[in-house]
Amino acid sequence: MTQAVQDPTLIDLFPLSDAKDWQAAACRGDPNHDAWFPYPSQDFAYAREICSGCPIRRACGDFATRTGQTGVWGGHEYDRGRLIRE
Ligand code: SF4
Repeated sequence: MTQAVQDPTLIDLFPLSDAKDWQAAACRGDPNHDAWFPYPSQDFAYAREICSGCPIRRACGDFATRTGQTGVWGGHEYDRGRLIRE
C-alpha cells in the first residue's frame, strides 16, 4: 500500500529556522506556493497582503537577509538575501 504524498505547506519550506516563532507565521499552511516565489513580471500582492498581518514580519525579513533567501519574506521580495522589491 502506498501513502499519498502531500504537498508541503509553506512552513515546510522555511529551511533553516527551528525557532518557535515560525509557528505564528501568517503564511503557515498557505497552499499557493507559487505566489511566494513570483516571476519578475508577476506582482506579489497576494503574499504581501498575508504578510501585512503577520506577527513575525520583521523577523522574517531579517531571516531572509541573514540566510540568503529568495522569494517573498516579510512582505518584500528577496533574491538570495538581497531586497529586490519592496
Ligand atoms: S512575514 Fe510573510 S513570509 Fe514571513 S512568516 Fe509572515 S506571512 Fe510568512
